[in-house]
Amino acid sequence: MSDDCIFCSIVAGDIPARTVRETDDVLAFLDANPLSRGHALVIPKSHAQHVGDLDDDLAGELFAVVTDLVPHIGSTVGADGANVGINDGEAAGQEVPHVHVHVIPRFEGDGGAPLHAVGGERPDLSDDELDAVAEAIAE
Ligand code: 5GP
Ligand code: ZN
Repeated sequence: MSDDCIFCSIVAGDIPARTVRETDDVLAFLDANPLSRGHALVIPKSHAQHVGDLDDDLAGELFAVVTDLVPHIGSTVGADGANVGINDGEAAGQEVPHVHVHVIPRFEGDGGAPLHAVGGERPDLSDDELDAVAEAIAE
């Protein structure tokens, strides 16, 4: 637990939240400032800022809750789809430094955008550059 973390305070019960799912190590609750009806956040109960900080078991449990909740929330609110994503790090827009998966139900004609919209200007990468990036990552 981190003392000055809002989501740790929610886990501890010090800040109220609209809980929609709870397991031993994972909590899901509605976003206080939702982007759509049913917008939920799925978090590990233990404090970590980055997805890369999670061990495999916890990451698996977190994603299991996500894959269970996405269709469940969708059918509950009558959504047509969902965006599922993580802002990992301040440069990516992370405001609360405790890992959280956004589950954002989407509705036909809601005026929103796909995840492709989160990037900045697209880099103009040659095939050679793409090959080099893939090789470096795969190493
Ligand atoms: P981030 O930009 O870090 O990915 O998103 C943080 C999210 O947490 C935002 O969508 C924001 O509305 C939500 N949020 C911030 N504070 C609280 C809170 O105290 N309770 C709940 N339920 N959601 C919060
Ligand atoms: Zn925390």
